[in-house]
Amino acid sequence: MIDHKKKHCPVCGMKVGTVPITLEYHKMFFHFCSEQCRETFKDHPGLYTSKQVNDHVELIIRRRLRLAESLDPETSQAITEYLQALMGVKEIHLEGCSLLIRYDLLQLTLAKIECSLNEVDIELDNSWWQRLRRSWARNTEENELINLASTPGACCNRPPPRV
Ligand SMILES: [Zn+2]
Repeated sequence: MIDHKKKHCPVCGMKVGTVPITLEYHKMFFHFCSEQCRETFKDHPGLYTSKQVNDHVELIIRRRLRLAESLDPETSQAITEYLQALMGVKEIHLEGCSLLIRYDLLQLTLAKIECSLNEVDIELDNSWWQRLRRSWARNTEENELINLASTPGACCNRPPPRV
């Protein structure tokens, strides 16, 4: 059994705490800074064990999401802080029912953002068009991650694989 004893989280590059969150993968132990990073790693381990990601490549995504209803300034502030605590969030603008978010796809996905909003009972606009846009975006992200994990040296300009 190889113990990697890495001091830095393989997903976000942050220092891991004294009681790290660990995961065994292919007889190697990896240490993470947070539960979120461990989950992210589990989804696409190949991505984070390959060299290019250890060099801390970022894949910045910018998305505008619509909430089901406008939030008052106080709730907006609370939700902004809540989302900022997620690993990989670069920028957030939440005004009324419009949420603009910039994040690193190697650390955070739309699916996880939706899940996090769901946990605090914030609903996204569920009109068919918004649902379609989000489902398309989730698939694109997933394809991009799979593509990146399976083709060493790929870069963010590479088109997603054909399905
Ligand atoms: Zn991390």
